[in-house]
Amino acid sequence: MQFIDLKAQQQRIRAKIEENIRRVLDHGQYILGPEIGELEKRLSEYVGVKHAISCASGTDALLMALMAYNVKPGDVIITTPFTFIATAEVVSLIGAKPVFADIDPKTFNLDPEKLEETIVKLPSPLRGWVKGIIAVDLFGLPADYDAINAIAKKYGLFVIEDAAQSFGAEYHGKKTCSLADMSCTSFFPAKPLGCYGDGGAVFTNDDNTADLLRSIRNHGQGNDRYDNVRIGINGRMDTIQAAILLAKLDIFPEEVVLRQKAAQRYTELLTSHFSLLTPSVPEGLMSVWAQYSLLARDSHVRKRVQDALAEAKIPTAIYYPKPLHLQQAFASLGYKQGDFPITEDCAARIFSLPMHPYLAPQEQEKIVNIIGDMK
Ligand SMILES: *Cc1c(COP(=O)(O)O)cnc(C)c1O
Repeated sequence: MQFIDLKAQQQRIRAKIEENIRRVLDHGQYILGPEIGELEKRLSEYVGVKHAISCASGTDALLMALMAYNVKPGDVIITTPFTFIATAEVVSLIGAKPVFADIDPKTFNLDPEKLEETIVKLPSPLRGWVKGIIAVDLFGLPADYDAINAIAKKYGLFVIEDAAQSFGAEYHGKKTCSLADMSCTSFFPAKPLGCYGDGGAVFTNDDNTADLLRSIRNHGQGNDRYDNVRIGINGRMDTIQAAILLAKLDIFPEEVVLRQKAAQRYTELLTSHFSLLTPSVPEGLMSVWAQYSLLARDSHVRKRVQDALAEAKIPTAIYYPKPLHLQQAFASLGYKQGDFPITEDCAARIFSLPMHPYLAPQEQEKIVNIIGDMK
């Protein structure tokens, strides 16, 4: 059994993917070819945001967003410690300081109350250096943007949505990547919409910001190729990846529906299990289920469930075993065990089951039966 079955998806659209790749080979515009513009148009229409700026990865998308906000060394950015390293890595990379706030144990996303408390309790001068918030839509579930955007407004901060895991999800009728001032996503192969390599995009409704992002993406380009008006990066998406994404976008809305069904089936089958807590989706939200993550009663139950499934050749995963505040890479931030008790508790008990649009009901029943048979 596959944790994420990309083969099943490829079988459906293989001919279209090959046709799209062949077209790129024919025209030969491997960098910023016509597929890039076509993809950006379709992404922005899908999400309902004026501009989509494709780029080389989700990490570059976040970096470009921070650069567009002119985040500088010494600035402070608040985010969650329960996420993939890239969310906070880019903050450190440009010399700014990530400050963490704890999560809501039901959604695994930033807890707005903790977020505000963190801002208010920061000692000066740090408090004055806070520029923005990066909220993460973990496992495909949108964070609480009504509350987060209101806090940002109150303290004069920007909000970046890290929608790397949530492309296709919804928040009160709006699509992710449209929920904050600027939004970033990833097309890493295992994400809900993935290409066959690295890719990402930034979304904004603001024309000037879109121009700025396009310039940053291309070495700070000005009016022509050898006019450089700012420091930028080589952050362009390959044309071939755009061609692959165009083929995948055709079936993506249907895949989002299939993901809902698979997640619902898991939840129905697992609901009565005494030692596992199934994930909950707040009213009005739709997760795209990048991961189906459960909380075991304790780390021993988690180990036993994972071992039993592994025995039956069913892969599981832990996202994330070590929260960011305890990572050696962030040792200089000075955090210690106990600083974010909710995050640490989740990290000790969480695990994820195989999840993709082509998961068969019989496979899910097999998984749940193995879990159910455990004493
Ligand atoms: C995957 C991911 C990223 C980084 O995306 P890449 O395309 O791998 O660079 C950033 N944030 C989160 C939450 C992610 O899951």
